[in-house]
Amino acid sequence: MAKIKKKIKTIKVNADKCNGCRTCEVMCSAFHATPKYSSNNPARSRIQIITDRLADIWLPVFAGEYTASECTGRNKYVIDGKEYAECDSCRASCPSRDLFKEPDSGLPLKCDMCDGEEEPICVKWCLVDALSYEVREEEREEEPKLGEMEIGLQALADRHGMQKILDTIVRLSKKG
Ligand code: SF4
Ligand code: SF4
Repeated sequence: MAKIKKKIKTIKVNADKCNGCRTCEVMCSAFHATPKYSSNNPARSRIQIITDRLADIWLPVFAGEYTASECTGRNKYVIDGKEYAECDSCRASCPSRDLFKEPDSGLPLKCDMCDGEEEPICVKWCLVDALSYEVREEEREEEPKLGEMEIGLQALADRHGMQKILDTIVRLSKKG
């Protein structure tokens, strides 16, 4: 496979600085609204703040890959004396929780690093610098990349079966 130079975009999370203001959730959902900034709904955000007030836990987590099945095992972390629940640090949109799913359709959400912007919107609006952005170049083997539509179709096919999706597309195309 051919080697390519790939830009690796990283958002560094300093959880100690996060105060749980949730501005990042509001701004992410507004940026991804259609048209842009026409509405906001933090449930549509691709960053979520995992919160346990009594344990003083505020953990920003970004939506990662969609997975059709939940984990066979789970992990608990204790960091600086704080115990994090089993799914707290997981980025996946998966069947075991409602996180990172579009609330109306149930389709998976994934952080796209605000592609095309100089700096991710959540980083820009985190006024206490709990989030910071870095870009570096690495040499990697080229790999096929799934787009947002393919990931959504894959999720629908896993839930309803490919034949039902095809039948629906045929039926809808006849209406149009
Ligand atoms: S904007 Fe920053 S401080 Fe506020 S919740 Fe998000 S990460 Fe935490
Ligand atoms: S980088 Fe962009 S898409 Fe990802 S969580 Fe932040 S605002 Fe949302």
